[in-house]
Amino acid sequence: MPRRGGELPGAGYFAVTRASTMSQILHPNLHPNLSNLSGGGGRRAVLLDRDDTILDTTRMTSDLPVPGDLYDPARVRLWPGAGPALARLARAGYLLIVHSNQGGIARGHGTLADLHAVNDAMRALLLPFGVTLAGVYACPHHPTGSVAMWASEHAWRKPSGAMLAAACGEMGVAVAQSWCVGDKPRDVQAGVAAGVAASRCVLLGTSGSAADLALAGGLWAPSIVEAAEMIIAAG
Ligand SMILES: [Mg+2]
Repeated sequence: MPRRGGELPGAGYFAVTRASTMSQILHPNLHPNLSNLSGGGGRRAVLLDRDDTILDTTRMTSDLPVPGDLYDPARVRLWPGAGPALARLARAGYLLIVHSNQGGIARGHGTLADLHAVNDAMRALLLPFGVTLAGVYACPHHPTGSVAMWASEHAWRKPSGAMLAAACGEMGVAVAQSWCVGDKPRDVQAGVAAGVAASRCVLLGTSGSAADLALAGGLWAPSIVEAAEMIIAAG
């Protein structure tokens, strides 16, 4: 089990991180703009949803049991432009932290091993752009799942902010100076619940609506590409 740091209070906690990645993100050569980071001991981060934010599942939706239930690493594709966009955010001094509901595991559509394989494939696709993800967090629970181990509600499931808050706590993120990006209203809700200002939450266009925009505090972008531009422009 690649859970870093052992089980935390609250059975069922689940996070996908890599110890090697943790040491890498602390290496100053990989973050030349550390001087840009916030004071007060915290580091700025962009908290990124995975599916249809960094990864593109739209071209395979008809083949998946449930849209977003991507558990085959051979089918992992980056959202067009996501690699350069994340590279720009990293160069601007932002830690890149991924958060994902993976209720498909509770539904039996994939296993934890599949989840790790897909996440590893994502990391591999980002490497040529010089992008290293500081952490990848996921919650495999779902209240109507069929796999007993995961068939329950869990505090980490978005729109709860607990998964993002835990990630920020583990990595010393300055939440008030960070951003949250995702293609679902629940991503934005989770960001706000974790303490990210609504004005720093960006809803992406794939499933946006007028109500979603209001929920997002008016911040909306067609994709991660434009969202990255907005974040960098806003500082
Ligand atoms: Mg998504």
